[in-house]
Amino acid sequence: MKIDVVPCSVDNYSYLLFCKTSQKAAVVDPTEAQSLLKKLEAEKYSLTAIFCTHHHHDHTGDIDALLRVFPEAEVVCHRTDVGRIKAATTPVEDGDEVGFGEQFGKVLHTPGHTHGSICYLFGDALFVGDTLFGAGCGRLFEGDAAQMYSSLMDKIAPLPEATMLYFGHEYTRKNLEFATLVESDNPEIEKRRGELELAGGVSTPTTISLEKKTNPFLRTGAPGVKNTAVSKGAFADDPVSVFAAIRQMRNQF
Ligand SMILES: [Zn+2]
Repeated sequence: MKIDVVPCSVDNYSYLLFCKTSQKAAVVDPTEAQSLLKKLEAEKYSLTAIFCTHHHHDHTGDIDALLRVFPEAEVVCHRTDVGRIKAATTPVEDGDEVGFGEQFGKVLHTPGHTHGSICYLFGDALFVGDTLFGAGCGRLFEGDAAQMYSSLMDKIAPLPEATMLYFGHEYTRKNLEFATLVESDNPEIEKRRGELELAGGVSTPTTISLEKKTNPFLRTGAPGVKNTAVSKGAFADDPVSVFAAIRQMRNQF
């Protein structure tokens, strides 16, 4: 399966997934239809699935524009988002199988950013929406810290280290600045900041391995992260409380 990264709007990412054997394609989080349609036309693929990671408008805004060209495409989202994503055809739940062409993936329910946030795992590619970012995680708009912490640690972190994580926004530079503030004694963060500049600022996809080394929200057990959180009132031996304190700090950063 070929994956195209499609930067759009201010800092959003959509992703086009191509099944070469069937000439069918899918999109994850359609923000702007125009650039997606142009690529589909250039590659002569037909769109058969739209995978939504959550209901926010900057991830679902151009579903209707895509459906005008590909009316048969199914629109997949978590069952609790069906009312909020009007064009939804295929409600899914944790563990469900999804597919397009001859490609098959699995749904992981990862509430926290929103109640209906889901990730899609195709082989070693995980599309995480706004649950995890490069060196960061999504804001807690609907869920609480315990939910988000569990989504990150119980659903995403246990996947193989080489799993590629395709996220919804390019926030990595700012997140790494924040990570330095939280854990100033971690040399991996400085190393990653240097690599990001060399890469021209585009940091998707990342990997589980890199996030475990540099993402403060996956490092609640690291002494530097714990100390910073404790200075903000967290309990050192309660990872959810450490996570919540760091998330709160990031909101004000
Ligand atoms: Zn969002």
